[in-house]
Amino acid sequence: MQPTAEPHNATLVEKTPLETYVPPAKPSLIGLSRTELADCLGEIGVAPAQRKMRVQQLWHWLYFRGARSFDDMTSISKGIRTDLAERFTVDRPEVVAEQISNDGTRKWLLRLPSGDNVERAHEVECVYIPETDRGTLCVSSQVGCTLNCSFCHTGTQRLVRNLTAGEIVGQVMVARDRLNDWADREDGTRRVTNIVMMGMGEPLYNFDAVRDALLIVGDNEGIGISRRRITLSTSGVVPNIVRAGEEIGVMLAISLHAVRDELRNELVPLNRKYPIAELLQACRDYPGASNARRITFEYVMLKGVNDSLDDAKLLVKMLKGVHAKINLIPFNPWPGTAYECSDWDQIEKFSEYIFNAGYSSPVRTPRGRDILAACGQLKSETEKLSARERQTLRAMAMTD
Ligand code: SAH
Ligand code: SF4
Repeated sequence: MQPTAEPHNATLVEKTPLETYVPPAKPSLIGLSRTELADCLGEIGVAPAQRKMRVQQLWHWLYFRGARSFDDMTSISKGIRTDLAERFTVDRPEVVAEQISNDGTRKWLLRLPSGDNVERAHEVECVYIPETDRGTLCVSSQVGCTLNCSFCHTGTQRLVRNLTAGEIVGQVMVARDRLNDWADREDGTRRVTNIVMMGMGEPLYNFDAVRDALLIVGDNEGIGISRRRITLSTSGVVPNIVRAGEEIGVMLAISLHAVRDELRNELVPLNRKYPIAELLQACRDYPGASNARRITFEYVMLKGVNDSLDDAKLLVKMLKGVHAKINLIPFNPWPGTAYECSDWDQIEKFSEYIFNAGYSSPVRTPRGRDILAACGQLKSETEKLSARERQTLRAMAMTD
């Protein structure tokens, strides 16, 4: 069955409002910049002249060694450690479930502070995908997503909140914790070598937190994942694309999925606000794009919707003049979707056409399908509870 086009309606482009973040009484230092850490040290009475050195030490313990308590930070004086522990924590998001796929993919469900809104706990998912030459962590930027791409499970989630920088960096730290992947790993190799901002949410609608987090993740005195190994995927928030290049400097991926505005309006409703021509112009203007640093165009293969050879031809034509590579993604179905994945021989034909036109066109192998961890399948567990289960949760919270 073909999904029908929704009527043009402004409310379909973006959901509002965002839920707000309620910080815990004792905030975590994770996600703070060096300047903010210096301010925290000031709060506990560390003299200005000492702060720079202490920040260096804290940074090393937090982001290079992955210390999970102030007690572990043995090069910092006992007094400062105690004072820090009185006011702050080094907490990461809480892991509420870990699933391991039969292909080695791991998915963590993380619970985040949600104030007293027990009915709707704030949860995100984060996925680790091991490959022979690398390990990629797929990180979320929002609980849910304000956008409504018609083929994406996350887009069907109503609850939306922006993650803080700490919650974004925290996902990388959770993965390193769970994979025993900190600097003291015995064989000196790393498991998490690459980051993709392709989990839940639209990263360019949470620009500041995503920027602050990725600058921490890329900092070579800490987590140290180089910017060339970090990819930010956007559905096309045009005004923030060039900014991302200037202020973050990571690799860019664009969720294109259609070559005509009419179809893209339906698949990626944000296209009504920022149509294809404007999106491609922003890509041409992306700072740092070159033949060696190409922009990835993601194209989800939907049977009978966007997978004809005419689409492939137009795709190649429209990418002229853009430093581009194309990534074909087999559609990952989720319960309730009306879309189907293109037939394999059609994907091959499409891919071959693009390849012959001079583009590398890898087809992304779906990973972790058995644990619903593949692209676009992430959705908060809490959202899936029935009304009765939610009522029970609320009742339990009231009797606590
Ligand atoms: N919001 C950002 C990043 C998260 S989605 C974005 O849209 O780019 C990461 C990628 O997965 C995007 O290219 C998205 O279009 C794709 N995707 C979403 N749902 C999918 C599905 N069911 N099957 C395959 N890919 C999907
Ligand atoms: Fe949001 Fe990306 Fe899903 Fe679209 S594809 S709804 S932008 S997460």
